Amino acid sequence: MSYLESLFSLKDKVALVTGGGRGIGQVVAVGLARAGAEIVIISRTGADETVRLIEKGEGVPPGKAYSLIADVTDEKSVDKALAEILKRSGSLDIVFNNAGVCIHEDTFEHGVDQFRQVIDINLTGEYIVARAAGKIMKERKIKGSIINMASMSGSIVNVPQWQASYNASKAGIIHLTRSLAVEWAPYGIRVNSLSPGYIATPMSVDTPQELKDAWMPLIPMHRMGNPEELIGAVIYLAADSSGYTNGSDLIVDGAYVCQ
Ligand code: NDP
Repeated sequence: MSYLESLFSLKDKVALVTGGGRGIGQVVAVGLARAGAEIVIISRTGADETVRLIEKGEGVPPGKAYSLIADVTDEKSVDKALAEILKRSGSLDIVFNNAGVCIHEDTFEHGVDQFRQVIDINLTGEYIVARAAGKIMKERKIKGSIINMASMSGSIVNVPQWQASYNASKAGIIHLTRSLAVEWAPYGIRVNSLSPGYIATPMSVDTPQELKDAWMPLIPMHRMGNPEELIGAVIYLAADSSGYTNGSDLIVDGAYVCQ
């Protein structure tokens, strides 16, 4: 194994990626597989395409992956999926807690039910998955790494679109991450968050062109990021190279939040 591989290898690790059927989750799942991890994806509608991409390899050795149907807001369905992972893969070392949704709406139009729905998926969903995975890691003495998907929206207020529920959910994730990092440090479980800026995925690419035009002057690099530009950050947080990085929020936003 080369020096670089020894720093960033995920060989013999089992990595759970929530929401890995498309978008950032799909691209990062493929990246984690190429770093050596066996990948398990959970989503509500399946992730056959991601599994196929990993198993195909394409210029790299084929990886191992499978997908399970689960809803991150449903504790029982998450517990069932995690039990299946232990049965099939024998461990759970890495969690990329990525599943999430965003609704752009003026707060006076955005009903309380919709606010609850966004908080339920983004914040409570990540809590349910992190808690269930953390329990397994503690019981089995696994020195695991949990990476919670936050967003720059957890630190700044995006304009010109209004998305108060999303921003609140992501701010909650950043502090949930710090809280779990401190609480679980004695067990050797690390918990960090990732805060991307605007990334070109189905969630953001299908937004109206005039909105994207309004974003560009606000992004110091004058472009959206690609999901591929998040792979290295997640591998770093998952691998032993980040062994002393705990409770951090890694911002990957083309310098947006610096302004
Ligand atoms: P996508 O909409 O492309 O993908 C979201 C994924 O989440 C899908 O695979 C979806 O699968 C899954 N998902 C949604 N709800 C649930 C649920 N209840 N249970 C299980 N899985 C669920 O989004 P992105 O790839 O753009 O975003 C991924 C994450 O990155 C989100 O947390 C988002 O907030 C965050 N992010 C995105 C940014 C961007 O610009 N795109 C910027 C910053 C952060 P299914 O529908 O099959 O369940």
